[in-house]
Parts: sequence; structure tokens; C-alpha cells
Amino acid sequence: MNFKDYIRVIPDFPQPGIRFKDITTLLKDGPAYRAAIDALKELVKDKQIDLIAGPEARGFVIGAPLALALGVGFVPIRKSGKLPGETVEAAYDLEYGKDRLAIHSDAIKPGQKILIADDLLATGGTISTTIGLIHQLGGEIVGAAFLIELSYLNGRDKLGDIDIASLVTY
Ligand code: 5GP
Repeated sequence: MNFKDYIRVIPDFPQPGIRFKDITTLLKDGPAYRAAIDALKELVKDKQIDLIAGPEARGFVIGAPLALALGVGFVPIRKSGKLPGETVEAAYDLEYGKDRLAIHSDAIKPGQKILIADDLLATGGTISTTIGLIHQLGGEIVGAAFLIELSYLNGRDKLGDIDIASLVTY
């Protein structure tokens, strides 16, 4: 399946000059959504994975079904102030200003093997912050899986030697 056929590109969103990759058109197509999760599963199935961690919000719509398909648990990474239990947090740079991501302090036990999942790798800022949180809890990152990679933004360079799987590249 050519997943690009299901991803809509919206020019000038959220600001002029950005060509936003809209995955809602893929998500609403049942067979395409299922095929995308199955294809990601194929890419990571030989890894030893204890848990999948995904940042809100689109990391949930990729990470949670992938966790189900693999038979492992899912850990949400959220914006600061959303998780009810004790958290560890890290700040990260947005285009304008800063934001904070958080994870429950007891979400990952030291030594657990974690696969990170998100819809899209752009500059790598979100995922490098996610990596920092997982490392703070002693998790071992075995890879990162994305529906889409924007290769022209060189996000890979920020993720060190982490093994990256992506279905579609622009
Ligand atoms: P990064 O932190 O790698 O620069 O940006 C990746 C994050 O921003 C992901 O969590 C992703 O959901 C969101 N994002 C950035 N650009 C796009 C885009 O064109 N399409 C979608 N669906 N998400 C994007």
C-alpha cells in the first residue's frame, strides 16, 4: 500500500511556508490505518520490547494500536499538568517559546526496553525530549517508529544512534 496516497498535505498550516502532513485522512480509512500499524509492526517485530512510549496526541494514535498489535503495554507522554500521578518532566523548545513534557515517575522500571512511537519525525525535538525522560527513569530505548519522516529536517541527527523505522519519507 502506498501510504502517501492516504496522507493529505495542507499548505501554510499552522503557519505560512509549512506543508503540514495531515494523517487524519489515513486514520479514517480502516484498511489503511490497519495496514499502517501492521507495516510498522513488521519493521519492529524482531526487537525485544517491554513497552511502547508515545507523546501526545498523535503518538497515541500510532503507539497504542502498535502496542496492542505487539502485545505490550503503552506509556503516554503528556504535556505538563495532565498526568495525575507523580511525574518527571523536561522542557523543550518550540518554534516560539518552550513547552514541557511529562511522564509518570513509575511508568518505566530501570532496564525495561522501550520503543518510542509517534506519527511524524520532523526536527526531532519532541523525540529527543522523550528520550531524555525515558533515560531519567532508567529505560533502555530499543528504537523509534514513525509513520512519517521529514528527512529534509534531519531529525535523525538529534536522536544519536537510536534505530529509526519510518513508513513514509518526504
Ligand atoms: P519535531 O519535534 O520532530 O520537530 O516535530 C514532531 C512533532 O510535531 C510530532 O509529535 C508531530 O505530531 C508534530 N508535527 C510536526 N509537523 C507535523 C506535520 O506536518 N504533520 C503532523 N501530523 N504532525 C506534525
